[in-house]
Amino acid sequence: MDIAVIGAGVTGVTTAYCLARDGHNVSVIERLPEPGLETSRANAAQRSYGYVYPWADPGMVRKAILWMWTPKGPFKLKLPPDIRTLSFLAQTWRHARTPGLFPANERSLIRLGSYSRECFADIERQVPLAFDGGHAGLIDLASDAKAEAALRALMPLLEEMDIGHHWLGADDIYAHEPGLRRGGPVRGGLRISGDGTGDCHLFTQALAAHCRAMGVRFLFDSEVVDAECRQGRVVSVSVLPREQASGRDAWSSSAAKTLPADAFVVCAGCQSRALGRLIGQRMPIYPVKGYSITAPLSDEALADDVMAPRSTVIDDRFKVVITRLGQRVRVAGFAELANFDRCLPASRIDTLKEAVDMRFPGVAVLDKATPWAGFRPMTPDGPPILGRGKYSNLLLNTGHGIFGWTFSAASAEITADLVAERTPAIDIAPFRPERFLR
Ligand SMILES: Cc1cc2nc3c(=O)[nH]c(=O)nc-3n(C[C@H](O)[C@H](O)[C@H](O)COP(=O)(O)OP(=O)(O)OC[C@H]3O[C@@H](n4cnc5c(N)ncnc54)[C@H](O)[C@@H]3O)c2cc1C
Repeated sequence: MDIAVIGAGVTGVTTAYCLARDGHNVSVIERLPEPGLETSRANAAQRSYGYVYPWADPGMVRKAILWMWTPKGPFKLKLPPDIRTLSFLAQTWRHARTPGLFPANERSLIRLGSYSRECFADIERQVPLAFDGGHAGLIDLASDAKAEAALRALMPLLEEMDIGHHWLGADDIYAHEPGLRRGGPVRGGLRISGDGTGDCHLFTQALAAHCRAMGVRFLFDSEVVDAECRQGRVVSVSVLPREQASGRDAWSSSAAKTLPADAFVVCAGCQSRALGRLIGQRMPIYPVKGYSITAPLSDEALADDVMAPRSTVIDDRFKVVITRLGQRVRVAGFAELANFDRCLPASRIDTLKEAVDMRFPGVAVLDKATPWAGFRPMTPDGPPILGRGKYSNLLLNTGHGIFGWTFSAASAEITADLVAERTPAIDIAPFRPERFLR
């Protein structure tokens, strides 16, 4: 089959790989000049298969309101909020208050994450990829009794879902992450032993290069601006060079290239919503902003490897994630509702620097840190949108929110299953696009 994948983030590229592996003739259309330049660029680098949760968390609402007013708090709302932000908040609230939805979604996401672990293992076996990836586990720290109680409360669910985990006291934490010994308070922590890490951007670029060698065609600097749909099918999409697409008033249909295909897959991250509007497919995805810094390890840490993080650590004080990526360290955090505001306030970056210096003092050259802001493609309930759309040959693989890197391998495999009319390995009903038609 001829298949067009829209978007070359980690989701689009893994999807292209699985489709090409199944023998399809795949084209990937990407409005930016390279793969993985949007949200897949510099995320927290966790492949946290067993430690995933939905956005619409009834227990979070009160905390989020408190955090909003704490200067270094992890949740931010740009004031005054615009209509789109208010609508997203209202939908989140509705989902958070729907009885039984949160625990059901929690379990569905853990199933998707666990399946993704298997799918990543397959991809990494099939293709040699250099992306500073590993599976040395994840530690969520508790500095005090309150944080310990909150983490221990998660353990019955992990037990039920068969996710390998242990409660560790401070000494055991230091055995896994010796660098924490020099940092802030540690009472204990929850370790998820099977979880992994990896640079999502390097992975996306390396897998795209492999896809090219398999015959996948990439159209960069090319934006999908329209689609022709007839008799229940998408017939073709119209593609414009990016510079013409951005001054949308100026584009005429004669400037656009028409790309027909037998099937189309939407992997357009935060822009999926706009794309859906062209064809009447509702995808209420909101850009939840976050920040990261990536810094080289200091000479001291390079000389004494015991100082640096070994895997990925979630700090409970600043609510940031600190991850080792080869000879670099990545620190990421914040959930900010500011629509598509791309500014990078110094205060957010300073908080990330303070957090890594508190946990792993002197480990990174913070003057050389590269700051980044990105947008998590978030559905108002949290699970991704995965399945067939309103046209028989339209597939949706988008809206992965907080965990798109983690879920990418599974959702690509599931999309390839749907194209091939195979039954996916897990139940995908919780991710169905129709849940947003109500
Ligand atoms: C601060 C932060 C930390 C995070 N940490 C983690 C983490 O530790 N673990 C984890 O699993 N996830 C994490 N995430 C989430 C994860 O990064 C995203 O869910 C994931 O990258 C989404 O990938 P994607 O391919 O769906 O979207 P993107 O990477 O945004 O790719 C979509 C692509 O589609 C293209 N596109 C859009 N519209 C069009 C169009 N009309 N025509 C052509 N091309 C188009 C875009 O240019 C873009 O390249 C984090 C996110 C942030 C912001």
